[in-house]
Order: sequence, then structure tokens, then C-alpha cells
Amino acid sequence: MTTPRSAAAATVLVDGFGRVHTDLRVSVTDRCNLRCTYCMPLDAVFRPTAELLAFAEIERVVRVAAGLGIRSLRLTGGEPLLRPGLPTLVRRLVDIPGIDDVALTTNGLLLDGLAAPLAAAGLHRLNVSLDALDPGVFAAVARRAGLEKVLAGLAAARRAGFREIRINAVSIRGLTEGEVVPLARFCLREGFHLRFIEFMPLDAESAWSGGQVLSGTEVRGLLERDLGPLEPVARVDPGQPAVDFQLPGGGIVGFIDPVTAPFCASCDRLRLTAEGQFRNCLFSTSEWDARAVLRAAAGDAGAGLDERLAALLRGCVAAKHAAHGIGTADFTRPARAMYQIGG
Ligand code: SAM
Ligand code: SF4
Repeated sequence: MTTPRSAAAATVLVDGFGRVHTDLRVSVTDRCNLRCTYCMPLDAVFRPTAELLAFAEIERVVRVAAGLGIRSLRLTGGEPLLRPGLPTLVRRLVDIPGIDDVALTTNGLLLDGLAAPLAAAGLHRLNVSLDALDPGVFAAVARRAGLEKVLAGLAAARRAGFREIRINAVSIRGLTEGEVVPLARFCLREGFHLRFIEFMPLDAESAWSGGQVLSGTEVRGLLERDLGPLEPVARVDPGQPAVDFQLPGGGIVGFIDPVTAPFCASCDRLRLTAEGQFRNCLFSTSEWDARAVLRAAAGDAGAGLDERLAALLRGCVAAKHAAHGIGTADFTRPARAMYQIGG
């Protein structure tokens, strides 16, 4: 018989190391209109649309996940704004009981037209990826043009009323050092919250090497050299991966250092790929096939479907490793690149 205590435990996603999972990253497509060196190959081949989860399937998974304690969602990809009808999906997800926060990570190219409909659909927060303000460096990283569109997208997001707009910048040695200070000045001026992210071994061309990682500490040094000392900001949410500092001019800059300072011990994230695979880590080498469960259930009108999805998700969480292990002898690169997982 189920005791009240175990019944409570069954409604949260807790792994073997005591980490409670409340955050689900949902990839809505593997397609993209850029080809960032650290994420996607130039000749990327994308999945047929029929393999991607339909909105109803995503919604079903999220309802089950919310019943197990997932509270925040982040839509990602590939480039999520390429998924037709995205505001409709946002509306459906925002309305799910238990979901407190729906956010989006985008490269911003299509934001000019979509910021207002997304805000109207109830999207709360926006992360825009922008590694460089110099058009040449932007093109060297993204391998396509688009800087002007990103800037127009940011302006549109501001007009649409997004309160918190974060800029995510991946730092790569030998490529982005000269962008660090201009990005900080830009974000300070515009009131955006800037976060530098270390380059992780998730590029499609397997060209990553530790030597290319421009660490958060080094980026901080570059900022301090030009702008003056950064003051540490107390961490409000222990699950937040970024370590924040105050810039001399008053803005906040954060550092996400998964390579030099992994935050695995407080990781509360799970992932759902665009074609419906649960993953318990960016670097997971196993997946749990929610799409198979969803589509097998179609024939029997979905009887017991929620229970099967819940069991799958619990199994995924239970198998989570203590840490990603980058830099250790045991580390294995996942077969998928970032665009196929969802960052
Ligand atoms: N296309 C959207 C974008 O670029 O924001 C969403 C998907 S992208 C995979 C999500 C985030 O992952 C972006 O901020 C991107 O810069 C980051 N990213 C991709 N590959 C990475 C890598 N190898 N190391 C660190 N961050 C990476
Ligand atoms: Fe596209 Fe985002 Fe990957 Fe760049 S990081 S290739 S924008 S999915």
C-alpha cells in the first residue's frame, strides 16, 4: 500500500543524488537559420517534420511533467522561432496548471516579427544569443549574416514589453576576446542582462578542444581591465547556473562556466528533444523515448499514457549521473550536437 510519504515522493523528480528536478528544456525544432561553429555543421541534415513532436504531444508530456513537479519550461532548438505557430504552443503551455514560468532561448533573427505575438501568448522571459557586435566576428561564429536582424529583434522585444531580456554570449579563445567589453557596454546601455557561457564540447564537427575554452575567469579579467572591478552579487536561486557580478556602471553580468566550474551538483534540469527523447543531461549518452510511448498509445486512445510517460521520466531522472565529467578520463562526448539536443 502507498504511504502518504511515498506518494509525496512519487510526485517529484528526485535523482539518486537528491537533486529535485523542476526545470524542463523543450526543443521544438532542430532546424536553424544560422550555423554557429560550436553547435551545428555547415551541411546539417534535419529531421523530417513528421518525426518532431506535434504541439498536442508536447503539451501532453508537459502536463505529465508538471504533475511530477516541473515548474519552469524553456523553449529552445535549433532555432525555436522557425517552428510555425510557436505563439500557439506558448499559450498552451502557459495555461498548464503547475507551470509557473515559460521562457525562450533564441538567436533573435526572427524576433522582430514574433516578439509581440509571443509576449501576447504569455511568454515571460527571453534569452537572446549574441556572441559578437562586430559583423565580421558575428559571421565567423554564425557562418551566416544576421547581426542587424538580431539587433532589430532585441528592439522589438523591448517594445513588446519583455521585462527581463538576457543576452547569452559564448566565449571562444582566439575569436571573441575583442567582443567582451563592447558586449558589456552595449548591455549596460540597453539594460540587458549579459551572461558569458563557456564553450562546451557539443559542436557538430568535434573540433572542440580545452584550449578553445575562454574561461569565465578570463572573461572577467578582460572586463575588469577596461571597466574596473566587478562586485559579486549574492545568489538568489541556488539552482541558477550563472554566477553574477555587478558592473561598475550598475548592470549585471553573469558567468556560466560549465567547463571550468561545473554546477552539476545543483542541476535541476531535464530535456525533451524535438523528436521526443527525454535526456537527463546535455552530455547524456542515453535517451528515453517519449515519442514511442506517445505514438504507441494512439491506437488504444491513450489509456494509461500519462502513467507510462511518468514512469519513463522517472526512469530518466533515476539514471542521472552525478556530473558530466568534462575533462575526466571517463568523459564521453554525446553522439548528438547541441542543435540536436536543445541548449
Ligand atoms: N538557436 C537558439 C539560440 O542560439 O539561442 C536556441 C538554441 S542554442 C543551441 C541555445 C544556446 O546554446 C545558445 O545560447 C548557444 O549559444 C548555446 N550553445 C550552443 N552550442 C554551444 C556550445 N558548444 N557551448 C556552449 N554553448 C553553446
Ligand atoms: Fe542555431 Fe542556436 Fe545552434 Fe547557433 S547556437 S546554430 S543559432 S541553434
